[in-house]
Amino acid sequence: MLELNNVHVSYGGRRVVHGVTLRAPERSIVALIGANGAGKTSILRSIMGLTPASSGEIRLFGERIEKLPTAAIVQRGIALSPEGRRVFPHMSVYENLQSGAYLQRDKALTGRTLQEIYDRFPRLAERRQQPAGTLSGGEQQMLAMGRALMAQPKVLLLDEPSLGLAPLVVREIAAIVRDINASRGLSVVLVEQNAHMALKLCHTAYVLEAGQLTLSGSGQELLESQHVRQAYLGL
Ligand code: ATP
Repeated sequence: MLELNNVHVSYGGRRVVHGVTLRAPERSIVALIGANGAGKTSILRSIMGLTPASSGEIRLFGERIEKLPTAAIVQRGIALSPEGRRVFPHMSVYENLQSGAYLQRDKALTGRTLQEIYDRFPRLAERRQQPAGTLSGGEQQMLAMGRALMAQPKVLLLDEPSLGLAPLVVREIAAIVRDINASRGLSVVLVEQNAHMALKLCHTAYVLEAGQLTLSGSGQELLESQHVRQAYLGL
């Protein structure tokens, strides 16, 4: 479904992603783990067209998208829940969710999607009129995911959903990601520094080190890898 072939990303003249090739098949959860600054966010930004790849191919259902503007990429079915959530703090939960559907012209469909999101995230429904900035960290993460889902993506990109959250809340977010993947059948690309959470949750995982993929396998395989255990799981 989503494929990256030999993708490079640079800022100015400085290359930070060096020839990444990865696949996110239909209905899969694919994790991308790596240390701070390894280039994980830059890969997601290149998929969204926010920092276009300097070379390489990105395909969605076979169609090349690496040169398309972000709005066209969203319309083709990819949505991002960004690192740090980036909710609009002074806008209500409802307005934040609506902002995720800004490209959707079918108002009836948007209304149905909103109701589905309220059903999936009852805490957002209870707080629909509350300013987003007053939500807890976990609730803001749910809002960021809900806002991305309002675009009705086929591929959902999640950038560090566990960041700054207590272990119990991380578990709750992980359960939601699993449920979204299973019930909506969409693919999830999950970027995480919390390697344990990501490897438990995913079907396939890739390890990114200094802008290059160094390992890949099933989540279970990487949980058992000596290198991953030492470098990312502190074991
Ligand atoms: P983190 O987990 O800390 O977000 P990451 O793996 O997502 O890390 P990136 O945010 O993709 O890593 O950063 C990769 C490299 O690119 C880093 O060296 C970073 O300083 C650099 N970088 C990121 N954004 C920019 C930018 N807008 N301009 C210049 N350099 C950037």
